[in-house]
Amino acid sequence: MTQKAQSGKIRIVRIKAGIVIDHIRAGHALDVLKILGITGKEGNVVSLAMNIRSSRIGRKDIVKIEDRILKKSELDRIALVAPEASINVIEDSHVVKKTRVKLPDEITDVVECTNKRCVTNKEREPIRAKFEVVSRQPLKLKCSYCWTIIEEDDIIAQFCTY
Ligand SMILES: [Zn+2]
Repeated sequence: MTQKAQSGKIRIVRIKAGIVIDHIRAGHALDVLKILGITGKEGNVVSLAMNIRSSRIGRKDIVKIEDRILKKSELDRIALVAPEASINVIEDSHVVKKTRVKLPDEITDVVECTNKRCVTNKEREPIRAKFEVVSRQPLKLKCSYCWTIIEEDDIIAQFCTY
């Protein structure tokens, strides 16, 4: 483990079962919690580590959530705020699955257009929201229908429940 070698020891608790979201861009751990709708009131044990040294992305944040699994739609959301993130699924204190999120060039159904008059926001129109990723850092998405640009803060606000 390169991280172990560099920092001497891992300063964040190990978990028995749940998920570890690693390689979050430094400073974005709270955005990841917001975008997953995690407020702390769910009862799961959540641990955060911020500004950990990473050979891959410089500085990184880590989020560990006990007794939680992630749906595909949640992985898609994480990719928006932490495009380099890797997801470790932990069972019986072991990593049983490791995946990386992927921010595609086109995003369908994950984010809503902020333009109220956009055709994708009309209830009677069966058109799914679709965006083109025009910038990855900072994140900017362009609606494929009305060309409205939405930015990271708008996106996080859509999922934030507090
Ligand atoms: Zn639109």
